[in-house]
Amino acid sequence: MSETAEAAAAVKDIGLGAISIQGVGKTYQSGKTTFRALDDIDLEIGANEFVTILGPSGCGKSTLLRIVAGLEEANEGEIGLDGEYVVGPGANRGMVFQGYTLFPWLTVRQNIEYGPKLKGISILERRAISNHYLRITRLESFANRFPKQLSGGMKQRVAIARALANGPKVMLMDEPFGALDAQTKLEMQECLLDVMEKEKTTVLFITHDIDEAIFLSQRIVVMAAGPGRILKEFSVALPAERTPEVREHPEFLKLKRELAALLKHRDNN
Ligand code: ADP
Repeated sequence: MSETAEAAAAVKDIGLGAISIQGVGKTYQSGKTTFRALDDIDLEIGANEFVTILGPSGCGKSTLLRIVAGLEEANEGEIGLDGEYVVGPGANRGMVFQGYTLFPWLTVRQNIEYGPKLKGISILERRAISNHYLRITRLESFANRFPKQLSGGMKQRVAIARALANGPKVMLMDEPFGALDAQTKLEMQECLLDVMEKEKTTVLFITHDIDEAIFLSQRIVVMAAGPGRILKEFSVALPAERTPEVREHPEFLKLKRELAALLKHRDNN
């Protein structure tokens, strides 16, 4: 193997996907009024880390995620991804939103193959990619269905599969399970961890649901509004394997109390 190929193989093994958010600020202007949506956000996220941003509605979570995605520009500060500045959207970041963003005229398989097809990947290779993602998201028997024939949970599984099919280093997820019923939401959280265990990408996840944040994450970053800023960070000291029983773990319950108190305190001030 040549030195370059060796280095490339090593990079693939490590997975990469380290995000560096430095001094990011965002001010929205409408007419004469200005609104400070984000103020001096500093956050380092390691390769393959699962970090959740938790905070009340309006604290700037989506704005921050859109800036990391390159869909919106910060007024101050910089975003780095594996040492390169983020200057716009790119295939190294996959996005999953709350609203179902599937193409309604394409089948599940065609939705998953959409990105690889745009990249000019051959039919055979595309088929291998969609087979893989259909399998790990447990959608194999739904490959030929159209989005309107799927439940909300299934649609989000397709959205995850479709994002992963582009081979991103980072998954940016904005309240992806926010519109699902309670039971489906729990199933989707387990499905996501299962998929991420196999895919090993970095995940930056947004929610205002404390239980969801603890169950999924290695680290939780709590944000507050007025202006949008980071309040506190928490490491989640739970077993790496998150079985449903983890929700009864003393550490889970302790962290849940701490986070609830912090968010309640902010609401009252
Ligand atoms: P969150 O995701 O935490 O609910 P957002 O990032 O969506 O918060 O919004 C943060 C604040 O910025 C909100 O008060 C919102 O009204 C404001 N905001 C978001 N986008 C715009 C925009 N394009 N123009 C003006 N204000 C905006």
